[in-house]
Amino acid sequence: EYTLNVKDLTKTYNAGKPGEVRVLQGVSLAVKPGEVVGLVAPSGAGKSTLLHIAGLLDSADSGSVAIAGTDMTKLSDRKRTAVRRDTVGFIYQFHHLLPEFSALENIVIPQLANGVSDTAAQARALDLLDRVGIADRASHRPAALSGGEQQRVAFCRALANEPALLLADEPTGNLDPDTSDQVFDALMGLVRDTGLAAVIATHNLALAARMDRQVRLTAGVLEMI
Ligand code: ADP
Ligand code: ADP
Repeated sequence: EYTLNVKDLTKTYNAGKPGEVRVLQGVSLAVKPGEVVGLVAPSGAGKSTLLHIAGLLDSADSGSVAIAGTDMTKLSDRKRTAVRRDTVGFIYQFHHLLPEFSALENIVIPQLANGVSDTAAQARALDLLDRVGIADRASHRPAALSGGEQQRVAFCRALANEPALLLADEPTGNLDPDTSDQVFDALMGLVRDTGLAAVIATHNLALAARMDRQVRLTAGVLEMI
């Protein structure tokens, strides 16, 4: 059974109007548990659109998205939101951490929202921070952390509720090359430890080459590379 199975997705913005963009024109992608897929795409090719649809943040015009064997296109919006919270972790180019809370709290809060006890949530948050090498930064607010540290916290937050699927959109895209490599190592370590299925979009071909396989999105379709 696939963790993520998207079939024949199509998506057009501004259909029939000036500025029509046919972003996805029959995109299919299946990702097994534990498999890490690199998504390579030139800017504007539709990678954010694809990740948003796969992660149930947006819907396609046609096609289907199944997560852990369940066809999401058949669920109500409310059910879909619940599945997204339980099973999908997102990472973006910018961390989107809550500025008034500490690194630890940023990882604890989504767990509390999911019904985890405060003690268990704190223990898990600390363990995650430890695994990405910044347990000593737990009490710092985001503004007191370096860019690489902020992204590491965002990775921990994305994994806080033990999702089955991780979707990452240029997770190290705003870091300088040296920091980017180290932070990427931390992310891959976490992903491999947890056995997550992941789709990681990157412009960096050297990083993409470290994943289990790579796909390229161009002209609305995916090709294997
Ligand atoms: P990428 O992440 O690969 O840069 P996006 O998925 O963000 O690409 O966008 C793909 C194309 O669709 C771009 O041309 C973008 O301008 C356009 N686009 C994205 N979102 C919208 C939207 N909400 N309305 C209209 N056009 C959009
Ligand atoms: P990123 O590539 O970092 O995900 P973008 O700048 O492509 O971010 O898009 C940010 C948001 O703006 C997304 O929600 C996307 O759908 C929307 N968007 C992108 N391009 C357009 C566009 N041409 N018109 C309207 N909305 C857009």
